[in-house]
This record gives sequence, structure tokens and C-alpha cells, in this order.
Amino acid sequence: MTRRVELPPALAAAIHAAADAAFPNECCGLLEGTREGAVLRVTTLHPARNLSDQPDRFQIDPADHFKAQKAARANGRRIIGCYHSHPHSAAQPSAVDLAGAEQNDFLWLIAGAGALNAFVYLDGGFRGCVTGADWVTSSE
Ligand SMILES: [Zn+2]
Repeated sequence: MTRRVELPPALAAAIHAAADAAFPNECCGLLEGTREGAVLRVTTLHPARNLSDQPDRFQIDPADHFKAQKAARANGRRIIGCYHSHPHSAAQPSAVDLAGAEQNDFLWLIAGAGALNAFVYLDGGFRGCVTGADWVTSSE
């Protein structure tokens, strides 16, 4: 089943801003939200420290991951996905991303080359998502 993603434009803008701030490295963080059937609604970003010092990968600080999960639970929501940037490539999952993906049905937002794309890791691969009407795909 194709997942539909809803992301408020302000949060899309915040991801682009974080990508710019982290350049030339990747920014990363977690996505708090809700899930109703195939609809994933992002409500809050939880920026995280990137423990990787390599420009083509990210590693979310486990302490930040724990904090984000706790905050989401306190709001009655969950961590439904993650986001990161590709400073040197397009907004498509890389081989490194595929190797690092673990959680099934987890949302991945990837910012790169001015675009922001949504994927869900499902049954061992990334699938593109349908995005909402207010979806912002460009930082311009
Ligand atoms: Zn990546």
C-alpha cells in the first residue's frame, strides 16, 4: 500500500535550513507524528546530533533518539521516521541509507539539491510516497 505523507511547509523549510546549516556534512533528525492507516502525518521535528564525521552518511546520536522518543510519547504520538540531507547528491536514498535502514515501515525524508523527497522503508527496500497538497519540494 502506498503511504501518503503530510508535512507542514514550515517543517519542510526547517529541514532545508538545517541542511544548509550542516553543510558540508549531513543534517539529521527524527520525525514525530501520527499514523492513520496509510497516512503518515509529521507534526514535529527533533533535530539530532550527527555522530558521523563523513560527508556522505549520518548517525543519529542515541541520546537524542531517546529524548525524541520520550517527547513524542509525552505528546501521545510516536517517532514515525527520520530526516537527513544529502549535501552532495540528489534527494534519493543512497546505498549507505539502504544498508543503515532497519525499522520496517519507517518514513525517510531526504533533502538534497534543493528538493525534499519522502520514502518509506518497507520489506527491505525504499518506496516513494505520495505527498500532500501542501507538500513543499523546493527550498525556493
Ligand atoms: Zn542519505
